[in-house]
Amino acid sequence: MKHIMKNLILILLLLLTLISCTMDSEYYTLGDFEKVDKIDTHIHVTTNRDAFVEQAKKDNFRLLNIVVDLSKGPEYVEEQYAYCLDQKTRHPEDFEFATSFSIKHWDDPDWVKNTLARLDKSFEEGAIAVKVWKNIGMVFKDKGGELVMIDDPKLDSIFNFITKKNFPVVGHLGEPKNCWLPLDKMTVNNDIEYFKDHPQYHMYKHPELPSYEEQIAARDRMLEKNPNLIFVGAHMGSLEWSVDELAERLDKFPNMSVDLAARIGQVFYQTIENREKIRAFFIKYQDRILYATDLQDNGKNEAAMLATRMHNTWLLDWQFFATDDIMTSDRVDEEFRGLKLPKEVVDKIYAKNAQKWLKMFPENK
Ligand SMILES: [Zn+2]
Repeated sequence: MKHIMKNLILILLLLLTLISCTMDSEYYTLGDFEKVDKIDTHIHVTTNRDAFVEQAKKDNFRLLNIVVDLSKGPEYVEEQYAYCLDQKTRHPEDFEFATSFSIKHWDDPDWVKNTLARLDKSFEEGAIAVKVWKNIGMVFKDKGGELVMIDDPKLDSIFNFITKKNFPVVGHLGEPKNCWLPLDKMTVNNDIEYFKDHPQYHMYKHPELPSYEEQIAARDRMLEKNPNLIFVGAHMGSLEWSVDELAERLDKFPNMSVDLAARIGQVFYQTIENREKIRAFFIKYQDRILYATDLQDNGKNEAAMLATRMHNTWLLDWQFFATDDIMTSDRVDEEFRGLKLPKEVVDKIYAKNAQKWLKMFPENK
């Protein structure tokens, strides 16, 4: 009898060990960072040097390099595009790129025709997406002095063409809600720094320009007009301040997903307020969120410094999503706890969603 009891206890112990092992394997650890295949879907490399891709390889990241129409005219779009082509040609396994188009010659009667031709050439040359930027809605005015908004009828033929070709649009439209607040009311430190340095985009100082709500409404109207357009809302679709608002749009627009570029601070901020709510959001919308940072290399900073910044940014974000460690970040003033998302959710956010929404690296699928 004693013997049987001893065996039973042994079996029970074995079972308990087995259960705890399977439970452990539902989650990644900090140490898994380098092992897991990851994609950063929003970066800007505007240089021929290899510093960025070298660090990405070390940290097991592949990249989407994005061209932006920074209101400096078509020449500057072409310049960034040339860097994309160069990086893609030399590192085809590590880079994809998103093209863009300049709206400087908007009033030219051939603007639509020329833009479509330029986009078509980009697709032939390997671009996998088209970026539209906040200059539409916040900066560019037509010859009548009116701001061009993203739902302008003239853009319909551009979006129709992109939809027909089945390419996604990455849209940075509007700004974080903080942009319409005074600096001392902003929720995250990186926004305070950015708008201190870029007062021209600090909408609190420009009440004559469209409100936050008007920017979001124009974007939503554009999505209503283009239900088949695959749309990745850059920077959490400018709904970074509220997962409820974002969830509402994701429910309404099934072809919309969002990237996290430069808005992880707002995720931290909301996690401080209600971690379980944020965790539930990431689990519920696990197919609609793409990991991204907005890290950049213009070739001017020291390569070692750049590598450290990239590694630290990527590792901190990984710790947040994979573990339940108590953490701090220079973006927010209080501590917060990591979300410890299940492995399959982490895999989607870090790679599978990029492959699905942006069709990145199809040869490696
Ligand atoms: Zn960006």
